[in-house]
Amino acid sequence: MEPQVIKMYAAREQIYPREAKGRYATWRWVCVWLTQLAFYGLPWLTWNGRQALLFDLTTRKFYIFGVVLWPQDFIYLAALLIICAYLLFLVTAIAGRVWCGFSCPQTVYTEIFLWVERRIEGTRSARMALDKQGPSLRKAFKKTAKHLVWGAIALWTGFTFVGYFTPIKELAHSVTTLSFGPWEWFWVLFYSLATYGNAGWLREQVCKYMCPYARFQSAMFDQDTLIITYDAKRGEPRGALSKKAGNNAKLGDCIDCTLCVQVCPTGIDIRNGLQYECIGCAACVDACNSVMDKVDRPRGLVRYSTDHAMENNFNSQQIRRRAMRPRVLIYTSILALIIIAVCASLALRTPLKMDVIRDRGSMGREVEDGMIENVYRLQIMNTSEQSQSFRISVSGLPGLTLLTRDEVTLQPTETLGWPIRLRVPHGVGEKGSNKIAIELQSLDDPSLHVRENAVFIVPR
Ligand code: SF4
Ligand code: SF4
Repeated sequence: MEPQVIKMYAAREQIYPREAKGRYATWRWVCVWLTQLAFYGLPWLTWNGRQALLFDLTTRKFYIFGVVLWPQDFIYLAALLIICAYLLFLVTAIAGRVWCGFSCPQTVYTEIFLWVERRIEGTRSARMALDKQGPSLRKAFKKTAKHLVWGAIALWTGFTFVGYFTPIKELAHSVTTLSFGPWEWFWVLFYSLATYGNAGWLREQVCKYMCPYARFQSAMFDQDTLIITYDAKRGEPRGALSKKAGNNAKLGDCIDCTLCVQVCPTGIDIRNGLQYECIGCAACVDACNSVMDKVDRPRGLVRYSTDHAMENNFNSQQIRRRAMRPRVLIYTSILALIIIAVCASLALRTPLKMDVIRDRGSMGREVEDGMIENVYRLQIMNTSEQSQSFRISVSGLPGLTLLTRDEVTLQPTETLGWPIRLRVPHGVGEKGSNKIAIELQSLDDPSLHVRENAVFIVPR
């Protein structure tokens, strides 16, 4: 018997998605515009004389409009990630892969790159014909023009991405004077290449093989999750319309035009049922609706529906009612609670932080007149965007005095290391560790103060 060769690698078939027009295509473009206006525009906004949205890794401060987050505020970033994750669970439980189909950067940039490709190389059939052609000047011109435009978009995207981490106006100045730092070069080129490669070349391969979300989201689906479905009861038996009288009466509504397959960015046939490659972009819904309009049959042969709705012929009102099921209500409640807690915590946040660090090199020591001295370093952070002055006071042991200057002024968002020396008279306190407190009181705002506990060492 001949040995059988089983290929472990499925060779990629080039997909040439046809342009879809309709309600969902319009929504996809609305999402493209909104996400791109936000992405390209936000780093140029100014707030309090600085960049409104800046994740400044050099100074380790994140500026988010009126909020300045420090490394100590990591909890807020963790909360933000949890909120995003819950939002994704919630949206997926209700509407399936609507994020993938409409707002995911991979979809959005593929849509933009495809738009460029169509403007330069033409319609689906023109693009297929061009790729089949042998080398020619016309082909070289079209391909070069397309890649130049793709490259320009990718570079602008890489530049904007880095502009979230380095002040974008300084970055723009560095571009004009060609004085980028090595890290800026690296990240601009890395992000540009990722955009160019993912949206221009890899496209559906990213969704099919690289995206982890595509793999685990089926765990969030249930029988009432919205998915793109083909109504086989109505569509089958499929077949092209015939001019012979009586033939069409035996057929279902699907005229087997394959338009739903031609517009699909992942190249699948939704008539074969829900497949993991389906990103829920609804291009096939638009395509099929336009066909149904032409052959004068009701729209919705391919539509958003749910497994339950397909089985039980639910109408849209029944589908909406079933969307409010226990898991959706639980996700919504948890999400609302986390958002309220984060907002409350941000609103009540003290714009002042202090860490007390004992000087390990000099434990408690006896100085002149038998006094005992301890040395500390205060790490004071003014997390507000105004300069602030503070008075330092100490308590916890009789006769505990501060020997260094007790007033300190910090510039907006400044961190200051402030050494202090504390003394107690001879005989005060237990031998060993004694609890004391160090307090910072704002001189501008009586309600603003922080108090930190520390240890005062009396030598044995
Ligand atoms: S677009 Fe509609 S009619 Fe045409 S093949 Fe697809 S399901 Fe059938
Ligand atoms: S099957 Fe339809 S919804 Fe799914 S990816 Fe293809 S075109 Fe988009």
